[in-house]
Amino acid sequence: MLVKTANFLLSASDFKQCKPSTIPEYAFIGRSNVGKSTLINMLCNNSKLAHTSATPGKTRLINFFLINNNWHLIDLPGYGFAKIGKKLREGFSTLIVDYCTGRKNLKCLFVLIDSRLELQSIDKEFMEWCSEHNIPFSVVLTKSDKLSKSELAKNKKQIESSLSELWEELPNIFITSGDKKTGKEELLDFIEYLNQK
Ligand code: GDP
Repeated sequence: MLVKTANFLLSASDFKQCKPSTIPEYAFIGRSNVGKSTLINMLCNNSKLAHTSATPGKTRLINFFLINNNWHLIDLPGYGFAKIGKKLREGFSTLIVDYCTGRKNLKCLFVLIDSRLELQSIDKEFMEWCSEHNIPFSVVLTKSDKLSKSELAKNKKQIESSLSELWEELPNIFITSGDKKTGKEELLDFIEYLNQK
């Protein structure tokens, strides 16, 4: 699929602001700094669409984009550390929970994971939580350009083996690099396939 148009629609700070829709929706999520904005910008051929974060964890909004006039791309807040009062705590915000459980037209949630790291406990917890709530998700490994081919293959295997402790059938895993623009076609073709289902 080619992305011909990508238009910003709205930012929501509360799930109530997310108007119900029947347009297929695809959301991107991950720990702060995982490369989510860079990936979204790569998919949409627009280096300024999603704002790359100077301060990790700063964005607390859901951003809606309309792609090719027929599907929504959703930029979810990063998970990891939420400020509860004066303390920082690991967790998922109410906004993330409300969106992921309440959005009927959500076709797939793309969970971004840094290809250089082993699977972090918060990523595991999040995916387990998705499974428990029947939220369809795929895994996207980011920043693959930072690894050699053999390191990447080794890390992918490790991540797969961690995932297989949780599920018999592995989720889809996409390998991407926002810097080298790899994995774009595979992701967009997968979205096109789901759009037609
Ligand atoms: P976000 O917080 O998840 O939206 O992450 P950003 O897209 O803002 O990226 C965080 C940092 O990682 C920035 O310094 C990016 O330039 C860098 N980065 C993101 N994607 C890639 C990638 O594919 N390759 C490399 N080498 N760096 C990346």
